[in-house]
Amino acid sequence: MKYVDEFRDGTLACGLARAIAAEVRPSRDYHLMEFCGGHTHAVSRYGIQDLLPPNVRLIHGPGCPVCVLPIGRIDSAIALAQEHDVILCTYGDVLRVPASERRSLLQAKAAGADVRMVYSSLDALRIAQETPDREVVFFAIGFETTTPPTAAAVRQAKALGLKNFTAFCNHVLTPAAIRGILDSTAPEGTGRAKGARLDGIIGPSHVSTVIGSRPYEFVAEQYQRPVVIAGFEPLDVMQSILMLIRQINAGRAEVENEFTRAVNRDGNHKAQTLVAEVFDLRPAFEWRGLGVIPYSALCINAAYGDFDTERRFPIPYRAVADHKGCECGAILRGVKKPQDCRLFGTACIPENPVGSCMVSSEGACAAHYTYGRYR
Ligand code: SF4
Repeated sequence: MKYVDEFRDGTLACGLARAIAAEVRPSRDYHLMEFCGGHTHAVSRYGIQDLLPPNVRLIHGPGCPVCVLPIGRIDSAIALAQEHDVILCTYGDVLRVPASERRSLLQAKAAGADVRMVYSSLDALRIAQETPDREVVFFAIGFETTTPPTAAAVRQAKALGLKNFTAFCNHVLTPAAIRGILDSTAPEGTGRAKGARLDGIIGPSHVSTVIGSRPYEFVAEQYQRPVVIAGFEPLDVMQSILMLIRQINAGRAEVENEFTRAVNRDGNHKAQTLVAEVFDLRPAFEWRGLGVIPYSALCINAAYGDFDTERRFPIPYRAVADHKGCECGAILRGVKKPQDCRLFGTACIPENPVGSCMVSSEGACAAHYTYGRYR
């Protein structure tokens, strides 16, 4: 397949592995975080860690949308579906994420709530048009990649004059999460959960097609860490690791772009304009594992307030701790690996997830389990 096969070429991968091995310095370690769950999936699927020298360690980041959604937000969605008799629409993976007492939206559906899986925000809009006598809520989650489609649905609902459609906005922001992680690597006493040591960041692919590479520049300027935006294919990831190692060895901290076939510095201006029209920054938002991060999420603005679920329905929010024994929080901060969790592959498997990281294919635990990465 054009533009795919050539980025999965085994001979080229071996060449990149040799180049990395030749350039790493045996006297030091390299701790590189792949922020995005898509990269975590690729790393596990293609065994990229096994191609690297032992002193180059890949650390999985929090860039999996369902993984970072805190239990309290799923509890709120379940309450909406059960107590307000709405049609609650959301993406498939979200339905399986365990909430309080290991309940999920799927279980709420089995118990009689009208919960429906959709492939896009516009599916939810269509359901609202087809059922004008019912309230339809789109449970919107995700990073900058899925935010423009939610904005488009909200804008279209206003244009159509729909009275029975709202979006429960849980969209989150990648740069703020990176800042949260880098702050959590700060010395003890900062009040934040301790994070992993990071020497460089493999930047997201899809998110960066929307926001561009510019929003990562603070990482290099303020935190003196290099960032390389990488495509999703294994050679993209290998090339990005080589670029990071070269920056680290040279003492440089810059934002570089390996994924030039899709990402530029400024991103997708049309998508950014649409998002700015519909959303405001939230002053604070809780992330699973990372805690409350200021200005790290979006809410629907006053101009579109009629389409904001949180204005139409009372949705009390209660922060809830992760399940006992689940290490999702530490994994999302990069301080533990899936195999460090005693439930991994035993009580917790993709068919019966205990924590959010075992739900989506982009979750670190699911990726490790699916591809047999047990060490
Ligand atoms: Fe949580 Fe399951 Fe991963 Fe353990 S294996 S950290 S319980 S998702």
